[in-house]
Amino acid sequence: MKKINRRSFLKGGLAGTAVVAGTAVSKESSASQSFGGYPDSMGVLVDFTKCVGCRSCEAACNKEQGLPAPDKPFDDMSVYDEIQHNGQKRRTSEKAYTIVNRYKVKDREAGPVFRKFQCNHCNEPACLTSCFVNAYTKTKEGAVIYDPTVCVGCRTCMIACPFYVPAYSYSSPINPVIKKCIMCYDTRLKFGRPPACVEACPQEVMTFGKRKDLIKIGNARIRSNPDKYIDHIYGEKEVGGTAWMYLSDVPFDQIGFNTHIGEQPIISYVKEFLTIVPMVLTIWPALFTGFHLLANRKEALKNEKPSGKE
Ligand code: SF4
Ligand code: SF4
Ligand code: SF4
Repeated sequence: MKKINRRSFLKGGLAGTAVVAGTAVSKESSASQSFGGYPDSMGVLVDFTKCVGCRSCEAACNKEQGLPAPDKPFDDMSVYDEIQHNGQKRRTSEKAYTIVNRYKVKDREAGPVFRKFQCNHCNEPACLTSCFVNAYTKTKEGAVIYDPTVCVGCRTCMIACPFYVPAYSYSSPINPVIKKCIMCYDTRLKFGRPPACVEACPQEVMTFGKRKDLIKIGNARIRSNPDKYIDHIYGEKEVGGTAWMYLSDVPFDQIGFNTHIGEQPIISYVKEFLTIVPMVLTIWPALFTGFHLLANRKEALKNEKPSGKE
């Protein structure tokens, strides 16, 4: 398995040199380092128009990944009424690598939209590029996986991720680690099998296949039913493209997606900063907070609309 990591994006130890030595890096040397994704990588196309909110995908993930029992059983639909202390809907966590949330949408005849959420397995993952010990790998199959044995627990990846996905196992007193969806890499994806959540869905909400084919399928579905679907595949281009992509019949900002996130991978903002900012390890997390805010701010200014945050 070829490892695409931060070093691959920042060729020649670019970041390492800057980080350790605290030297500025020229714009020319940091340009054209983007990684557009493996051409035959796999992905999942999620069609929210089909989801009925049964939570079978949550249950399948829990079983496949050996996660602890949830606070409420998977057939308890009262979870859809839960709002967290920060006013947000349910989030992925150390105990739940995927969750489904319900969104009430005005005048939608079909009722509320149920939205499944997990790591999007970005083509150019901010979690990976932010990790200075290379704990993350983007596999050629498309999954973004994580090696807890090299993680030092700095949690920079949690700050860097534009979708707020990585969770930290705070409840583990001895060896807390990052937890997130790994696209069932170890047990399924590397053998060419679809993820457990995909296979478990009774509504066939999710289609597993080569990412490039899924984009064609998504576009064909939109073209064949233009009155139904929003003319947009979320994830085709956002933050440089993601392995998990989405179709919807309501605007994505109405179902919790950040629609001002931009098409540039988060690494692009890193490159801009690398031209002017001498870095040291101690400011890395703060720097990434800045990159993230900058990315959102740029797009918000472009669109002049309030951000539909996750
Ligand atoms: S299993 Fe399918 S229909 Fe049920 S909540 Fe998950 S995505 Fe929706
Ligand atoms: S969604 Fe977040 S955690 Fe998942 S690959 Fe992208 S940056 Fe990493
Ligand atoms: S792909 Fe695998 S790890 Fe990720 S949410 Fe689905 S079942 Fe869980």
